[in-house]
Amino acid sequence: MSLTDFIAGLPKAELHVHHVGSASPRIVGELATRHPGVVPGDPQALREFFAFRDFAHFIEVYLAVVDLVRTPEDVRTLTYEVARDMTGQSLRYAELTCTPYTSVVRGIPIEAYTEAIEDARTAAERDFGLVLRWIYDIPGESGLPAADATLSYALEHAPDALVGFGLGGPEIGVPRPQFQPHFDAARAAGLRSVPHSGETTGPESVWDACRLLGAERIGHGISAAEDPELLAHLAAEGITLEICPSSNVATRAVASLDAHPLRAIVDAGVRVTVNSDDPPMFGTSLNEEYAVAARLLDLDEQGVAELAREAVRASFAPAAVRQSLLAEIDAYAAP
Ligand SMILES: [Zn+2]
Repeated sequence: MSLTDFIAGLPKAELHVHHVGSASPRIVGELATRHPGVVPGDPQALREFFAFRDFAHFIEVYLAVVDLVRTPEDVRTLTYEVARDMTGQSLRYAELTCTPYTSVVRGIPIEAYTEAIEDARTAAERDFGLVLRWIYDIPGESGLPAADATLSYALEHAPDALVGFGLGGPEIGVPRPQFQPHFDAARAAGLRSVPHSGETTGPESVWDACRLLGAERIGHGISAAEDPELLAHLAAEGITLEICPSSNVATRAVASLDAHPLRAIVDAGVRVTVNSDDPPMFGTSLNEEYAVAARLLDLDEQGVAELAREAVRASFAPAAVRQSLLAEIDAYAAP
């Protein structure tokens, strides 16, 4: 079996992947047919619209898709169909980062949003055997009003499957410390802290995520590679970095895959997981990201299986889900 085939069939968990950013051309086509306008519904035109060109084009596609999610039924369709696509890559468990704020400001009441994602989650678990959990993230570019609103959705309208509280969007010009009160309140309510940091900013923002936001895992965190003391801190505290190699190249956070600091981070003893971030929009998939990681880290089948186990261990999945998924990986990877 080739390593590509091994990865394709390997049972996996994904921890860093965005809800709207996971919409494939197939899903966007369905939404575009419901809401005719800027986004083409025709499959060929849609594939061209979607083809990744550069970061500015990614933002354009992303916002166009955000604009297509207008009703609770759109939220339900997006979520359920993303789950279907995940199952096609042998995912068994995913923590999907949702940004309810962007839907609520477009007119979907939070109660209807919550009901729609929960409906899709239970249907996906029943139909595909995929277990989903939610991370609600603050869209950093919308500032403190968005943070206040996102916290209230997480505390006063929490869906059953909400496990984490995050912070996304651009980092430059969006200092992490201002969100400390929101993370304090979310953590006090039992939510796990998973902010993005150190993607396009230096190690100081990763320190902020650790010291001020109580991060248990960090989205990206790749600039930690510039700071040996920070790497030692992450390793000692067992703070996991959610690494998304192709995303980092697409956003120009790193110049090329060969220039990615994954190897240095792993060699420093920091725990990592491999993730896809916004896969169709970056022209990638979780399977492709595993292949990239295997190349950067010189991994064989057993090494790749260990990456899959690390994602399960670093997840916030229920104990029974973790045990059964680890057993399934062991059985699949048994020589
Ligand atoms: Zn992300």
